[in-house]
Amino acid sequence: MALTVLVVEDELKIRELLRSYLEREGWSVLTTGSGAEAITLAGTADPDLVILDLGLPDVSGETVAAELRSTSATPILMLTARAGEADRIRGLELGADDYVTKPFSPREVVLRARAILRRSGGALAERGRSFGGGEVLIDEDRHELTVRGREIELTPTEWGILAALATRPGRVYSRLELLNRVRGYEFASERAVDSHVKNLRRKIERDPANPDIVETVLGAGYRLGVARDD
Ligand code: CA
Repeated sequence: MALTVLVVEDELKIRELLRSYLEREGWSVLTTGSGAEAITLAGTADPDLVILDLGLPDVSGETVAAELRSTSATPILMLTARAGEADRIRGLELGADDYVTKPFSPREVVLRARAILRRSGGALAERGRSFGGGEVLIDEDRHELTVRGREIELTPTEWGILAALATRPGRVYSRLELLNRVRGYEFASERAVDSHVKNLRRKIERDPANPDIVETVLGAGYRLGVARDD
């Protein structure tokens, strides 16, 4: 299972921006613009992290935070628009684990979310990460790969390539970069990267001739596909 992040933010643009950045981390993202719905969703979906805007139109962020705190220990990353709000969050009155002040960069939110998840018992490392719309689950600690519910055996080189690409889904890695990352295995040339990728695709792609997990970027290299929706 991928980690689940619940984003509670009434501004559609910010909500969707956060969604796309968080999904790039391989996390499963739920969103709502309503505080009331957030409380319900948190109860049913049991998210690993809640990113919560303080200024919501129906139920205030404070109330949502208090409600979450009364029923679970789910970490909360607060989004705040005003310095005064930030002061109150800093005082931990609201039970938030961290906060980001608007306007923020989505990268910053991702970094803080990662840090919180790391602190909350290494859930990320334990549960692995998912890609390809949840079809591919990679657990780097255990060296386990599950594709569409089936456990797949990879050679060390194939594993090395996949793990390198999974470092940053969506980022393009050149053959030379992959060569350097997987050094130590028998890996002769940039051309060899292509044949290992071909073997890897045969094991994990639904249609190896038309791959959408390990994508080719012409003239540049390979990347883990992130375009599909969960
Ligand atoms: Ca708002």
